[in-house]
Amino acid sequence: MKHNILIFNMTWTEYSARTSGGSTPVLLPVGALEQHGPHLPMNCDTLIPGAVCQQVAGRIDALVAPPLSYGYKSQPRSGGGNHFPGTTSLDGNTLVMMTRDIIKEFARHGVRKVAVVVGHTENLMFTIEGCDLALRDLRSQGIRDLRIVHMGYWEFSSEQTLRKVFPDGFPSWNLEHAGVMETSIMLHLHPNLVQFDKVPLHPPADFPPYDIYPVEPHRIPSSGALSSAKTATADKGRLMLDEYIETISMALIDEFGAESFSRPDKQEQTL
Ligand SMILES: [Zn+2]
Repeated sequence: MKHNILIFNMTWTEYSARTSGGSTPVLLPVGALEQHGPHLPMNCDTLIPGAVCQQVAGRIDALVAPPLSYGYKSQPRSGGGNHFPGTTSLDGNTLVMMTRDIIKEFARHGVRKVAVVVGHTENLMFTIEGCDLALRDLRSQGIRDLRIVHMGYWEFSSEQTLRKVFPDGFPSWNLEHAGVMETSIMLHLHPNLVQFDKVPLHPPADFPPYDIYPVEPHRIPSSGALSSAKTATADKGRLMLDEYIETISMALIDEFGAESFSRPDKQEQTL
């Protein structure tokens, strides 16, 4: 029988059998409920890392935890800002504590390899803090062998792929909010959730290199997108997603050691 990958579909006995030895990695997608322009659903930042985690887990024999579907507050220069209806955010401390608590629970079950796969830029420092506090608490309980890999999945894009996806030049990851990358991946994964005829056509947002609080909504494109996704295609989405899956799988095999993975070449190296 093929292994179950999704923790929330497993029985506790199946889960315990897979996790108790500590060799099976657990992947935790961390997303957001955030506006993504008039053309994308608000759970993009959860769906994309969730899909990455599922496909990576299938390759490296890992498990996928239920995603955290709410994130830290959307920021004007990376997500349009937290003032849009629908964007539903956590205080930083809440996200830190959730990340910390979940990782500590995995460790209590015997898990010793955790990958936190973030889909929403604003989460990054808070999920890092959650990892750090979990490790600190676990050390005080005598658990010192938990290893965490923390990432934003988009960091795995190669220059070569970016040149193909953005032939006229790559704007920046922040301006990509609801832009070509996310729209292309959604066209590939969930075409029925993309309303392509509503893609905004305005030029990229032009922000000064600083933030203003309280946020002044008139400085932000009213569409909520920070650049136009008009050149997005499902093919571009597949190209980017396949690269994430391949390179994240390789990174996790390297960082977690090969003993739990069925790659004979790697296994020899660790002998
Ligand atoms: Zn996003």
